Amino acid sequence: MLKKIEHIGIAVKNLNNSNELFKKLFGKEHYKVEAVASEGVSTSFFMLGETKIELLEATNDNSAIAKFIEKKGEGIHHIAYEVDNLDEEMVRLKQEGFELINLKPKDGADNKRICFLHPKTTNGVLVELCEEKK
Ligand code: ZN
Repeated sequence: MLKKIEHIGIAVKNLNNSNELFKKLFGKEHYKVEAVASEGVSTSFFMLGETKIELLEATNDNSAIAKFIEKKGEGIHHIAYEVDNLDEEMVRLKQEGFELINLKPKDGADNKRICFLHPKTTNGVLVELCEEKK
C-alpha cells in the first residue's frame, strides 16, 4: 500500500540558487544537502508539514536530471510515495502491470531504499516508492 506523499522531487539547474528561491517561498531553510553519487545528483530537502520537497541538481551530464532538464526544463521530476515494505510493493505493482525501472531496490537520498516506476505506465508521472531504512 502507498501510504502518503513522502516528497516531491523538483529538477533544478543550480541547487544554491534554488535553495535561496525556495527558502523565500517556504519561509524556511532546507534541512539537509546530500549528494547521491550513484545517481549523479546533489539534493536538498525542505520539510513542509508531513511532506518534503527534494530539489535535485545534476552533477554530471549523464545524470537523469541533466537529461530531464535538457528535454523538459526545470520542474517537477517525480512524486515519491512512502511504503512500509518496498519489496512487497514492487512485486504487487509489477503484477498489476506497472513497469519497474529498478528491478532491485536501491539506495536513495535521506536514508531511503527506493524504486522508480516508469512514467509510461503511470500516466506520464515518474513515481518513486520509498521505504525508510531500518
Ligand atoms: Zn525522490
